[in-house]
Amino acid sequence: MVSERLASIPESTTMKISAMAKKLNAAGLDVIDLGVGEPDFDTPTNICDAAINSLQRGDTHYIPTSGIPELRAAIAEKLYNDNGIEVSPDLISVVPGAKMAIFAAIQALLDEGDECVLIGPSWVSYEPSVNFAGGRVRWAEVDEEFKPRDLVESITSKTKMILVNSPSNPTGAVFGREILEEIRDIALDHDLMVLSDEIYEKIVYGQDHLSIGSFPEMAERTVTVNGFSKCYAMTGWRLGYLAGPQEIMKWVNRILSHSVSHATTFVQWAGIEALKGPQDSIKAMVAEFRERRDLLVSGLAEIGIDCPLPGGAFYVFPDVSDFGGGDGFAERMLSEAMVAATPGSAFGPGGVGNVRISYAASKERLQEALGRIAKMLE
Ligand code: PMP
Ligand code: GLU
Repeated sequence: MVSERLASIPESTTMKISAMAKKLNAAGLDVIDLGVGEPDFDTPTNICDAAINSLQRGDTHYIPTSGIPELRAAIAEKLYNDNGIEVSPDLISVVPGAKMAIFAAIQALLDEGDECVLIGPSWVSYEPSVNFAGGRVRWAEVDEEFKPRDLVESITSKTKMILVNSPSNPTGAVFGREILEEIRDIALDHDLMVLSDEIYEKIVYGQDHLSIGSFPEMAERTVTVNGFSKCYAMTGWRLGYLAGPQEIMKWVNRILSHSVSHATTFVQWAGIEALKGPQDSIKAMVAEFRERRDLLVSGLAEIGIDCPLPGGAFYVFPDVSDFGGGDGFAERMLSEAMVAATPGSAFGPGGVGNVRISYAASKERLQEALGRIAKMLE
């Protein structure tokens, strides 16, 4: 009875592992959950207060599909100031989470048989979104630091778009100007679109985030996606957005108008406070993430597991091929060490030898997890 197209779509491994770790903990086991990519910080109170005030004002009704004008104006200002992207608020849509932004953009861009290039191990929901649209993923190779290698070789006559996710989930790689210029040149030469998922933009360590949509030649070729989940610790609020050329945004809005209608009204007012209110919580969060990253990378090296130092996001993605590969290692971590992590195979064929460990957990828990993994390997 189920559609053939759906039959090929796997469950989201990240969501599955998160649910499993929660269930085991609820059953009284002490599982350290390094599986899910969710900041372990609370949403700043000024943002919560803005939502409460909005509710009390009665902002509980339908609004236009693309979002309240005040939030779209705040996002346009943010994109200009932070990212160097000049876009009219009319070409911005607010959506229930960046995941929906990616899904809608891909449905708007791809036809049956079109190809989307993913650069090395990539977040779990990209390929299913491409497959939902009837498109196909072509995996581009990466080097030891998870930076693209010979990207142009992945382009075929069917390629329609390249997906860029910097900082990357799961690798933590940050693409600098040189790489983004190479992607720009390929997009121009081959008449391609770029979907740029910048949800981890503020979580970078000692380097700057650069938006490919800020290159003037890319203005008509880039859809930029971002959201509030990671930088403002707002995962459960479901608030994200996308900005892109008029022709594409028109169809994105049509998809939204027939599916979710719009993101929750009072949550959008909280989004304005997130963007316009104090930003110091981000600084504190990033400083803490950096200490955890260093602790985890050096702790893993001490037990014989090496990985490149990630430049951003809050994941390490070590190669554990010498320890039986990602699937087996993640399984052993859970059953023998009671540490949940995500097998690298969830992020595509380039990740089968790896495991993704999230450091969105306290330093004490990370230390404890390292001790348990060390014991497991003895
Ligand atoms: N993109 C990436 C790379 C992510 O890791 C996530 C996290 N879930 C998302 C998009 C979606 O974020 P959300 O839907 O919570 O805004
Ligand atoms: N993006 C996070 C992760 O990769 C949250 C779960 C999800 O949405 O996939 O773990």
